[in-house]
Amino acid sequence: MPTGGQPEEELKALLPASIAVRFEEMFPDVRPGRINRRDRKRAEMLRKAEPVLQRALNPMEVVRFTTNGVRQLTWWLLTAGSMNPFANRTTLVLTDRRVLLIHTDSRQQPRMFANQLPLERIRSTSGRNSYIFIRSGREQLMFHGVKRSEARQLKGLLESTATKKGGWQNLCPRCFTATDDAPLSCAKCGEEFKSPKKAALRSLLFPGLGDFYLGYRKYAMLEIMGAGLLWALFVSTLVPTVMAKGVEGAIVAGPLLALLAVIHTGDALLTRAKAKTGLHSRDGNLPTGEQSLEPAS
Ligand SMILES: [Zn+2]
Repeated sequence: MPTGGQPEEELKALLPASIAVRFEEMFPDVRPGRINRRDRKRAEMLRKAEPVLQRALNPMEVVRFTTNGVRQLTWWLLTAGSMNPFANRTTLVLTDRRVLLIHTDSRQQPRMFANQLPLERIRSTSGRNSYIFIRSGREQLMFHGVKRSEARQLKGLLESTATKKGGWQNLCPRCFTATDDAPLSCAKCGEEFKSPKKAALRSLLFPGLGDFYLGYRKYAMLEIMGAGLLWALFVSTLVPTVMAKGVEGAIVAGPLLALLAVIHTGDALLTRAKAKTGLHSRDGNLPTGEQSLEPAS
């Protein structure tokens, strides 16, 4: 048990003032002496998520634990596993009612979308090394890149919950109303969300356009440049051979064209999957401390 030394006071000062935190569960390893670097990071992480927590949590809700990592759904792993660490940084917040996932950028500022799992919907939890697995309904969330001790701690906090059916819920990125579905607009505040279909069609037209539409700008630019290079290669292969050998020369560029078709189709499917991970707001963002607080009416 922490003895109320200096590190405890320091950590408490770092925590967001407007959010109730169960200190002993959040920081089980606080010792008198000096503040643990990772604990400091986690307190700061929570403070960066404060604008979202203020809107998403109920007045009496208490935060029990937080950590960050990369989220992964089983089927999603099969398609987009390799680039996931760049696009799926997530802050996980455990409260006395739910597990909240807040999509963030690499500096832990909230971005894009949020999801939640009410505690009574958790079917099972397990953890191994830097991984946490949370099963609910048909889906299994794989959360990785977590510190080993944190994975163990979180698993301990989640173990005692009941087993019922249900699954992850999407949160409206504006008013944070939870829904089991993936509507195109919020039933409560009317906020319109990005359409997975539109995102997919844009990526089919040219890889990266769908990501740009969703708000993943940097990632989109990389994709557009990559696909642009391939198209340039295709044209620079096609044109000289057709000029030299006539239309039959076009066969030389056939494999490249096939590759391009695969990339366009593949990116369309990926973008659709990414769009369906959460409700993406029109401006593609969640509230952060970097912008002024406005009432979520
Ligand atoms: Zn809403």
